[in-house]
Parts: sequence; structure tokens; C-alpha cells
Amino acid sequence: MSNIIKAYLGIGANLGDRAETLRQALVMLNDHDQIDVLAVSGVYETGPVGVLDQPDFLNATAEIETSLDGKALLDVLLETELHFGRKRIKKWGPRVLDLDILLYGLVLIDEPGLNVPHPYLHLRGFVLHPLCDLIPDAIHPTLERSFRSLLDEVDDGAVHRVDNLMLWHTH
Ligand code: ADP
Ligand code: MG
Repeated sequence: MSNIIKAYLGIGANLGDRAETLRQALVMLNDHDQIDVLAVSGVYETGPVGVLDQPDFLNATAEIETSLDGKALLDVLLETELHFGRKRIKKWGPRVLDLDILLYGLVLIDEPGLNVPHPYLHLRGFVLHPLCDLIPDAIHPTLERSFRSLLDEVDDGAVHRVDNLMLWHTH
């Protein structure tokens, strides 16, 4: 029997019907026979980072269980981005859908094209806020600090929780 790992995905969008794209992407991931979506955080709207001249993002975090290894999971995420019409034009530029592996169990992955924990996770309010909806007391595998304490130290002035927006119903 293959190993089942609990992983956390960053999901974001800043073009088109952002909430609907995030909902449909979650359904598509859950339809994969080696991925179960277990829970989804609240939704956060965030001003752009890096490239400032672009629309605001919606960001959330999904807790999944998967029997895929990290590389195979990343491949599914990249295929899903392409399905929704993502075009890689510029780094940190606008995107219909961005799917990142934030955590893959407690496993450390440092390969070309895949770094887990996600290298910017602890620096980004728009990642830490939704992650703290799900696992505030969990410990970052290399920094050995809780996500709540990491969130306390980031500048999250541009991050606002969006109420009354549901991305996922837990069945
Ligand atoms: P970003 O999410 O940083 O804005 P992209 O979504 O354009 O950038 O991703 C660029 C590349 O980042 C992907 O092709 C992928 O190979 C690589 N990458 C490295 N680590 C990860 C990770 N943990 N999750 C998702 N992509 C990753
Ligand atoms: Mg990405």
C-alpha cells in the first residue's frame, strides 16, 4: 500500500472570476484518484507582491491527503494551472491560477524545480493567514517555529479576510 501524506497547498488567482477558478480547481484536484481535499481555509484578498501593477489576488490554503510523491503532486498542480489557461509570462506577474506546495508532510525537498517547505512561505502574510486558519500550532519543519508565531512577524497590512466567500464544502 502506498504512503499517504498530508500536504498543504497555496492556491491563488488574480485574473478572471477568481473565486470560481479556485472552486473549480479544488474540485478538479479532489477528482484525482490520488488526491483528497480535506479542508480549505478562509479566503484572503491581497494586494500584489513584487510586480505591483496588477489586480489583487484571492488566496487560500487547502489541506489534502495524497499518495503521490512530491514531484508527481507538483506535476498535477502545473497541469491544473495550464487547464485553467495559466500562461507563464513573467515571474510574480498576473495569473489565472497559482498552485504551490507549501508543505508535504514534514518532508524536506530540495530539487531543481521543487522546494518544500515553500521557500517564501514564512515571509508571506497571504500564505500564513490561510495556513493559520488550518494549522496555527503546527511547527515549520526547518524553522522550528509555529505558523502563528511566524505570522506575528510578517507585514500583513495588504492582506484582508473576505467574509461570506465559500470555496469548499466538507462532505
Ligand atoms: P511563484 O508561485 O513563485 O509565483 P510560479 O508559480 O511561476 O512561481 O512557479 C515557478 C516554478 O516554481 C514552478 O514551475 C515550479 O517548478 C517551481 N517550484 C519550486 N518549488 C515549488 C513549490 N513548493 N510549489 C510549486 N512550485 C514550485
Ligand atoms: Mg506557483
